[in-house]
Amino acid sequence: MNENTARNEMFYAEPVYRPPSEASSLLIQATVGCSSAAAGRCYFCNSYVFHKTVPEKRFRIRPTRDILEDIEIGRREYGTILERIFLLDSNALIIKTPELLKILKACYESFPNLRQVSCYACCEDILRKSDEELGQLHEAGLTLVFIGLESGDQEVLDLVNKGVSVQEQIDAVKKANRAGIQTSVTVIIGLGGKRLTEQHAVNTGKAAGKMNSTFFAALTLMVVPNTPMDEMIKKGEFELLTEPLEILKELEFMVMNIDAPGPVIFRTNHASNYLPLRGTLPRDKEALLRTIRNAMKDPSLLRPESMRGL
Ligand code: SF4
Repeated sequence: MNENTARNEMFYAEPVYRPPSEASSLLIQATVGCSSAAAGRCYFCNSYVFHKTVPEKRFRIRPTRDILEDIEIGRREYGTILERIFLLDSNALIIKTPELLKILKACYESFPNLRQVSCYACCEDILRKSDEELGQLHEAGLTLVFIGLESGDQEVLDLVNKGVSVQEQIDAVKKANRAGIQTSVTVIIGLGGKRLTEQHAVNTGKAAGKMNSTFFAALTLMVVPNTPMDEMIKKGEFELLTEPLEILKELEFMVMNIDAPGPVIFRTNHASNYLPLRGTLPRDKEALLRTIRNAMKDPSLLRPESMRGL
């Protein structure tokens, strides 16, 4: 679909990705691609490859009028039934606050039963905005942001060129929480490889405790072809965790080290994981650890390799 012609269909720069929990949301393409990928960060991520190889996925902020047009097209289709919207792509929070406020206003005016608007955010998108701006966005109905911590260990973040510090990530999550915006933080099991597995697990658990995000989710690393991480593996510079037992051990250490006041809804429901978990921390910490330890003894409880996905 050409972005410049009169349209009856919503615009999508495919492929698009959304969190598993946003399966019933209307997806609105507010930005395309990822600003961090455009800066050459995140050596494990498919956005890194897309930015270099798929011209349609190069990072850009769409004109507000085009986004508003998509909201109007969506209204004609889903007007009264829609309850949730997710703003694509990888960091729609980079949009300047006055424009985001126009978008949020149009969303809530167009869909009378709308309860939630969410998006992905890089931590610098949050830190760049003032407390007042974040408060305005919350007031206007931005209810939830998804943030990729990836690791709470600085050596791991530097290894994958995340381009931010652990402390900045913690500060960003706390800042969004203070403004009343819920936060869903994601980390990647296996991102430190064999060499950094223990410190990745321990420090990620500690960072999760300090952030005290609303939701905390773990994915398991799946190597994307043609990423710098893929190259590092081929050159022998990064040794993957290959056994489910190693992955579960890392997950166990991580959960053991999450000392959050809570309540933090913890889940590993992403298709990349071997063991789907759900619980609320700190209340369910021991039960989660028991489930992990049982799975370490009984591999039949694990998702088969063939059923795992990005
Ligand atoms: S991991 Fe997230 S922030 Fe980094 S390039 Fe991928 S989508 Fe962007």
